[in-house]
Amino acid sequence: MKAPLTIGFDLGGTQVRVALMRGKDIISRAAEPTDIAGGPSGVLKQFHRLLHSIASKEELQEAKTIGVSSPGPIDTDTGVAINLPSLPNWENFPLRQSLIDLFQRPVTVENDAIAAAYGEWKHGAGQGLRHMIYVTVSTGIGGGAIMDGRLLHGHRGLGTHFGHFRMAEHGPRCGCGAIACFEALASGTALGRRGREEAERHPQSHLGLIINRSMITAADVVQGARSGDAVCHSLVAQEADLLGRGFASLIYLFSPQLIVMGGGVSHAFDILDEGIHAAIRRDAMSPLGDVKVVRAQLGENAGLVGAAALAIK
Ligand SMILES: [Zn+2]
Repeated sequence: MKAPLTIGFDLGGTQVRVALMRGKDIISRAAEPTDIAGGPSGVLKQFHRLLHSIASKEELQEAKTIGVSSPGPIDTDTGVAINLPSLPNWENFPLRQSLIDLFQRPVTVENDAIAAAYGEWKHGAGQGLRHMIYVTVSTGIGGGAIMDGRLLHGHRGLGTHFGHFRMAEHGPRCGCGAIACFEALASGTALGRRGREEAERHPQSHLGLIINRSMITAADVVQGARSGDAVCHSLVAQEADLLGRGFASLIYLFSPQLIVMGGGVSHAFDILDEGIHAAIRRDAMSPLGDVKVVRAQLGENAGLVGAAALAIK
């Protein structure tokens, strides 16, 4: 039987994406920079225009449901955006109800990392598992959990914010206001920041030579490590260790069969892999220390795929 046609919306701080999906297959897709200045009404217009640019009249009739991936914190019980750090002027905006009014069909709203977790479970690296953790490591750190074959949400859908458990007594301040959160220590943003610090300290290193030309990011550190630069290599080893430490805590909390790692930093999974697993074996007792981490399969479409899959659940 053919999977039903669904509509996926991905509301991001930099891009909005719209797709017509059948299962994990993207039938058609459009994206453009988020109209941040336009606020919620500007973005709703974008969704409407983009959807009509990719879907025929027949397809719009056939697609009975909409799934939305949104940055958090968002109350997914009520579909109200609480406050979205990447999107000003969205405080307490009734996202789900506004989309129902506009498109006249059922709408499911999900936190982006939880939607991506569901996407990877249904159609990506975690297919067929009963217990799986998804962690996205990019600008921030987020995630989702499938336990006993069910997607976890928690009260008001605010569960599994993996980026914000505290890992140390001292450390950088996190975007959430606390200190030394997993995200503040191990996100791509944090890796870029450590790269800039090391560039100051080692002016003749790969990073020291590029800091005057550009703002160093995690991608520069990874590129340096790949080209054999010693400073970048040790930064990547430190990043793998921090990720492994955080993952070990998640393993103790959830006992997953597998951890799936997505987000921009997962592009460097091949050089993080060994260090991540060594830290997990060190920090988690057997047999929990044997849990494997693999790279996500759906890339930047995980949220879209997951949101669309949730819409037909
Ligand atoms: Zn935090």
